[in-house]
Amino acid sequence: MELESVAEVLRIEKWRLKGAMERKNAFTIDDFSPPYILFRKELRHVEKGTSVFLGDSIEVIRGFPKIRRAFYLKPMLQKHFKDNVVIEEKMNGYNVRAALVDGKFVAITRGGFVCPYTTLKLQEDENLLKFLTHNPELVVCGEVVGMENPYVAHEYPEAERFGFFCFDLRYKSTNKALPIEKRNSLLEKYQLKSVRLLGTYRTGEIDRIFEIVRELGREGREGVVIKDPEMKLSPIKYTPSETNTSDLAYAFRYPYEYGRDFSFSRIIREGYQAAEWEESEEELETRAMRLGKSILFPMVRSIRKVMAGGVLTEDFIVRVNSEEEIKALVIFLRRQGINFILKDSGIDLDEHIYLIKRLRNSTTDKIKSYLSGRFE
Ligand code: ATP
Ligand code: MG
Repeated sequence: MELESVAEVLRIEKWRLKGAMERKNAFTIDDFSPPYILFRKELRHVEKGTSVFLGDSIEVIRGFPKIRRAFYLKPMLQKHFKDNVVIEEKMNGYNVRAALVDGKFVAITRGGFVCPYTTLKLQEDENLLKFLTHNPELVVCGEVVGMENPYVAHEYPEAERFGFFCFDLRYKSTNKALPIEKRNSLLEKYQLKSVRLLGTYRTGEIDRIFEIVRELGREGREGVVIKDPEMKLSPIKYTPSETNTSDLAYAFRYPYEYGRDFSFSRIIREGYQAAEWEESEEELETRAMRLGKSILFPMVRSIRKVMAGGVLTEDFIVRVNSEEEIKALVIFLRRQGINFILKDSGIDLDEHIYLIKRLRNSTTDKIKSYLSGRFE
């Protein structure tokens, strides 16, 4: 294979790449044209989720970098950023990188897979295609949100079914992001939707930033991503209590499905935020109620469902144009080890609607075994 050239393009030693492939930390997807190597784990400077397409030329789409989180915001802002920061809304959907490889449009999920569903949907966006054709060296990074996708169903009035909101324009092989102003003017020029820009602030204006976060919480929106206007420093995320607890509510619907770190981190956030916001006894009571309820209620509901003989599932709606499209999606999801039942939900506006009922078997089985007398 052209391992040597791939190593060269990635600026990584050949033996390292070879080792990663032997350990299956990088593997080839060869039922896609062009075939691509996917990095399941990071390898030196090559991020997890990087895809290397082996077409006429070798093209790299680097993995989307991890965004670190602030628990206690004030000192972190001063320490990490320069004078000013840009505050953007953090949207709750799934991360997609859209690009042209070998002239072909692809939509890549966080893990580095070309998702057939997302590719088909985004391909309908003429502005996006035009942008990429004019800027083939760039990757459009954004969040897909709305109720019709196989990954994250969350309501957004501005995109009830399916919407794509850009947050970064990055160079294909270096992963460098364009400065915010440059990004904004390009997105505007091509009329691409962007995440909401909530303003530029001095790092000292912490109270105004907290007010924004509180307001987003009240509106049921996920939170903020804080960025260096030049995009030279890495962004930081921060979320309101409503988001931390709604994540917990989700995790405790399927308590054996989510790693303990997931829940622990979200509980800890509540502690730091309450302390930093200098909350009164009364405010703490409200927070405590919200936190406790988010853990207990969904868990009891799930246990009761299993008591009644039910099976725990998480339902997603998808909308496709043809049977081939749903077949491609089913194969794609199953290959990633996702366990689900597919239900035909009929036709709407000439399109086929399907329900993907994702089985949460670990939780169902574990609860069942406790209910039938097992002990720790
Ligand atoms: P990670 O912590 O590895 O980045 P995660 O799955 O825990 O991943 P999140 O907690 O959702 O991710 O936070 C990071 C993600 O937020 C990004 O990968 C991106 O998909 C999403 N996101 C939403 N809005 C923005 C925005 N305005 N700027 C950057 N990323 C955003
Ligand atoms: Mg997210």
